[in-house]
Amino acid sequence: MNRRNCHLSSTAPVVPMYQVIIESSFSSAHALRHYHGRTEPLHGHNFRVQVVVEGKRLQNKVKYLLDFVRLRKALQAVVKPLDHVNLNEAPPFRRENPSAENLARFICEELARRLPAGRQVRLESVTVWETPEMAARYLP
Ligand SMILES: [Zn+2]
Repeated sequence: MNRRNCHLSSTAPVVPMYQVIIESSFSSAHALRHYHGRTEPLHGHNFRVQVVVEGKRLQNKVKYLLDFVRLRKALQAVVKPLDHVNLNEAPPFRRENPSAENLARFICEELARRLPAGRQVRLESVTVWETPEMAARYLP
């Protein structure tokens, strides 16, 4: 079943799902390369990051999907090297553009490596806001 399909007439059974949502932020500079044929002037953003993790089953006794604190620590570990730097000089973005889209994908991939293995939990999405009105979302 494609859960992103929003057709109301769908007869596919709905699988109950829990989602856990955490947010973090970092402030850094970037300059998109090849932006209208040139590199943008260096400028800063207060980036906001939202991570959605989902799964069908809660852990036996605590009855949570996963530990908020552990997830938050993992996200902070991923985001910290992106804080107060020029993203164009940060290793993941020396060649790749530090666009909100690429930031979301990078954070998702790094976070996935830090999530507990072997559990029925998956990263549903990572959203990165450049401004309160503009965001990019990566769905792995
Ligand atoms: Zn920008």
